[in-house]
Amino acid sequence: MNYILPKIKRNGFNSEEISIQIKSLIDKLGKDLELKKEEYLYILDNISNNDTEYLFNKAYEAKLHYYQNRVYLRGLVELSNHCKMGCKYCGINYKVKTIARYRLLKDEIIECCDTGYTLGYRTFVLQSGEDSFYTDEYLEDVLKTLKSKYTDIRITLSLGERSYESYKKLYDAGADRYLLRHETASKRLYEHIHASFMSFENRRECLNNLKEIGYQVGAGFMVGSPTQNNKDLVEDLLYLKELNPHMVGIGPYLCHSDTELKGNLSGTLTETLIMVALVRLMLPKALLPATTALGTLDKLGRENALKVGANVMMPNISPTESRELYEIYQDKICTGDTSIVCRGCIETRIKAFGHSIDLSVGDFIDIERNEKND
Ligand code: SAM
Repeated sequence: MNYILPKIKRNGFNSEEISIQIKSLIDKLGKDLELKKEEYLYILDNISNNDTEYLFNKAYEAKLHYYQNRVYLRGLVELSNHCKMGCKYCGINYKVKTIARYRLLKDEIIECCDTGYTLGYRTFVLQSGEDSFYTDEYLEDVLKTLKSKYTDIRITLSLGERSYESYKKLYDAGADRYLLRHETASKRLYEHIHASFMSFENRRECLNNLKEIGYQVGAGFMVGSPTQNNKDLVEDLLYLKELNPHMVGIGPYLCHSDTELKGNLSGTLTETLIMVALVRLMLPKALLPATTALGTLDKLGRENALKVGANVMMPNISPTESRELYEIYQDKICTGDTSIVCRGCIETRIKAFGHSIDLSVGDFIDIERNEKND
């Protein structure tokens, strides 16, 4: 059971008075780029389906203002499904015994990026379960090889929690960006959905360290996690405003039947789109992916996200053989495809929804500007 957005869940309608109040708060968010805690809560407690169109249109306008209808593509390589962490929602956490484990070695990682480069991608996202096999030295070698081979690329890492020193070494070896979702900014909820050896504070410390080192940083959260309530979601919004990340990954929680959280409801499309739209208004320059989890939940989930403010997609360039083993949630899309099929499919989908693909490195907008001004 989750307890978010009650009127959306019940499909209840609002009186004109409440709708007017919600619209004026949405306008205020678009103008001031922030709201007070109780104002966010008012929106989440009261928003109904008849108010969402207004929110979605405003968020779409905010995206067009900075990014027009361009969608940045990033080639995603899923390095390994070995993981020492205990995220109770995740199908590759260390306790799950039902999957075969795999790991890509340096040459295989480079090969995936070579294919991705040929397909036009100029950002590679190297994502993995927390696998101690990938020492700093190993990753430094991979990063340096990629960066010396291709001078016009960006590398995003998404390898979980590491020490300040490790993040610094990887940054110095050529990593440009780091994705580390905070998962939830509510300590209560964090502790409910993670193993007791994991630390809410350490995850935040990692995000602060990454920012301090100079990475373009991506935080993010799941929508609809078991026991999540509107106050928890307000914490996410307040935390994101404070952290001011360059990227924010927002996806629905998708229940995996081999995890400790089996039997819970998954998050829904509308709930997730509402959070994407609010974040677009609050952080108008942020890079916001239309997540694979949304595409898994609903055939047009990612396209819908583009219409409410998302501006990034991450087609998979992992070897086809390993894709279905990176099963963080079940029925994940694109697991049977090759990189070339994914490339064509994504482009067709993006164009069908009135957007165009952008194959530039796609840095955070102010970073691009700084470089141009140098
Ligand atoms: N280990 C790295 C980390 O912790 O950031 C990256 C890999 S982790 C599998 C990537 C993301 O998958 C997580 O941040 C989490 O939000 C998401 N994820 C995992 N299980 C999920 C589920 N059942 N439903 C939705 N998202 C999930």
